[in-house]
Amino acid sequence: MLNFNFYNPTEIFFGEGQIAEITKAIPSEAKVLVVYGGGSIHKNGIYEQVSAALSEFNWGEFAGIEPNPTYQTCMQAVEKIKAEEFNYILAVGGGSVIDGSKFIAAAANFEGEPWDILSKGAEVKSALPIGVVLTLPATGSESNSFSVVSNSETHDKLPFASILVQPKFAVLDPKVMETLPTRQLTNGVVDAFVHTMEQYLTYPVDAKVQDRFAEGLLMTLMEEGPKLLSDDVDYKTRANVMWSATMALNGLIGAGVPQDWATHMIGHEITAVYGLDHAQTLAIILPRMMLEQKEHKREKLLQYAERVLGLDISDEEQAIASAIEMTEQFFHRVDMKTRLSDYGVDEEAVDKITDQLERHGMTALGEQQAVTLDKSRQIIAASL
Ligand code: NAP
Ligand code: FE
Repeated sequence: MLNFNFYNPTEIFFGEGQIAEITKAIPSEAKVLVVYGGGSIHKNGIYEQVSAALSEFNWGEFAGIEPNPTYQTCMQAVEKIKAEEFNYILAVGGGSVIDGSKFIAAAANFEGEPWDILSKGAEVKSALPIGVVLTLPATGSESNSFSVVSNSETHDKLPFASILVQPKFAVLDPKVMETLPTRQLTNGVVDAFVHTMEQYLTYPVDAKVQDRFAEGLLMTLMEEGPKLLSDDVDYKTRANVMWSATMALNGLIGAGVPQDWATHMIGHEITAVYGLDHAQTLAIILPRMMLEQKEHKREKLLQYAERVLGLDISDEEQAIASAIEMTEQFFHRVDMKTRLSDYGVDEEAVDKITDQLERHGMTALGEQQAVTLDKSRQIIAASL
């Protein structure tokens, strides 16, 4: 096992009716800016629950954070915060609203040009506190310190990380999933699955606990994910998927193990250029990444095949081929497409995405830095 520090300061309020708990979690003297997206919370009763809970607070709102939050929109929220002196952010939404809120929280206190946080890795020295009401289980952003923000003018989609923007608390009420469209349920299952794979399918370091936690998450997502799409889905299924998505990227399974993230980095470029949903890009890239990296990942691919998929691994080549095929089939079972051409993206993407990767310095991806620009090009070409 590698050395690690593990610190997750986000308090989780899990379960039905927990939105009311935000009253206890936010300091009473705070001036709260509620940040949300395109308005789904007005249609499903979450806005009412949040405003009821905030009735004793001094609060305002900023709506309109778009899926794949943009720097441009976030900066409008920063202006509002400065003009009206808000000092606490309550993010009510999915990964986009939470990621946008993290950037807003850092940018509001930043001296200089906040875009530098994303483009130059400028250090975040201070940020407003953030609380979260999660409406879409997928990204794990509700209890981690990562954020990904896009620039609509330059087609950049760039990450930053700071413990200062990690949410103080997050409410996870599986009831909020009742109004999620199939596309977003699917996105959530696939994103959480790929997060787990990016921290599991790496070279082995004999981290038995992390491996078995990761295998438990993969198996849960494979079992429960497809049930989410059925008409008789119940609270138990929603609860299991919701908690899996949080656990997949809250630092626990990634502590003390190598981490890959090559699929995510290529995926971000596809979203930035072609506008595909984040999880859609991952389902396209991951199977081809597994195939391309199969020698580097051999041992873990066999472990995945045997322990997660229950395959006989005596014929190693066959087991690895079946494991990759079953992974792609799982994406299909949750109604997710796995080819660029399924979205009308043609071979022009091979050069375009490779150029983007080069522009962002993504020339040696993966835990072994084995995914060179040339390998990325091959993976994208194989994903058409
Ligand atoms: P999202 O972009 O936050 O939301 C997608 C759509 O779902 C929005 O239109 C949203 O509507 C709607 N929605 C959310 N909750 C709903 C509900 N309960 N009922 C009905 N509709 C609802 O999706 P996401 O997959 O959670 O986030 C994706 C973003 O997170 C990407 O930018 C991705 O790169 C990033 N990401 C971050 C991390 C991280 O660790 N920080 C990890 C992976 C990915 P509204 O606009 O009305 O809210
Ligand atoms: Fe992701």
